[in-house]
Amino acid sequence: MSFSARKEKKSENIEIAELEKIFEKSTEKSGRFNFKAKACAVCPRNLKPKSLIFPHKISVVVRVSDVVNFVKCKRLAFFSIHHPRDFPTPLKAAREIFLSLRKGFDYDWAFERFSTLYPEARDIFVEASKNFTFSDELEKLIPLKWEQYYYSEKLKLSGIVDEVHENSFLWVSLKVPKKERFENRIKAACYSILTGIDTAYVYYCYDGKLERINVSRRDKYNALRIIEKVRKVEKGIIPEREESWMCEKCVYANSCKEERSTFASRFL
Ligand code: SF4
Repeated sequence: MSFSARKEKKSENIEIAELEKIFEKSTEKSGRFNFKAKACAVCPRNLKPKSLIFPHKISVVVRVSDVVNFVKCKRLAFFSIHHPRDFPTPLKAAREIFLSLRKGFDYDWAFERFSTLYPEARDIFVEASKNFTFSDELEKLIPLKWEQYYYSEKLKLSGIVDEVHENSFLWVSLKVPKKERFENRIKAACYSILTGIDTAYVYYCYDGKLERINVSRRDKYNALRIIEKVRKVEKGIIPEREESWMCEKCVYANSCKEERSTFASRFL
């Protein structure tokens, strides 16, 4: 091996050691591997998940939202896990309105909370507040807690439930879907696994409708099967691109066109 090749190899080893240290710190701190920071900003070679050499060390917490994304589009789950982005949406604005009104505050308070995170997104909040409907049906549900964080050490799964009642929980959505959504059953099952509660409610705040979901054993079994697959994506498998109506509005559309799927994605 030439001197310059040896030098290059040595610097590569130092680089990998550095990466391992950063990874360890990142996982210790947050329980979630900040892949973006590590692979895109820190790593001068812009390592991709498939080329990580220490996948056995990864014990990353997967969020319920990643599992739901996987059901909608496998690739979306890949991007939400490895390149998470926080951006304002009508749903996030509507959720702030729901939480503020349920807690006894008003629209101004909801805007205060929303604009603290997204100061440039006033229009999105205005649109959500015009469409938001507060239904009397909600009065039959007595909230005990809001924005409750749950975590399962065994499954390495976490999620935030919008509202918890004595024997049920609830999350906010925008419009009643035309037909029952499988992803809602899986979401309900994931929260049920985390909370130990088998009754879920979805509040469609643009329509003022409440939907009840009774979580079955089969739902929980399906959720576990999907979590297994999400784990593979988290370890670095890049799923194949699935063209659908969602691609047009997808925030990852550009990256998605450039990213090639890994061979193992055929077995997802
Ligand atoms: S652009 Fe389409 S295929 Fe790609 S992640 Fe988004 S929804 Fe999925």
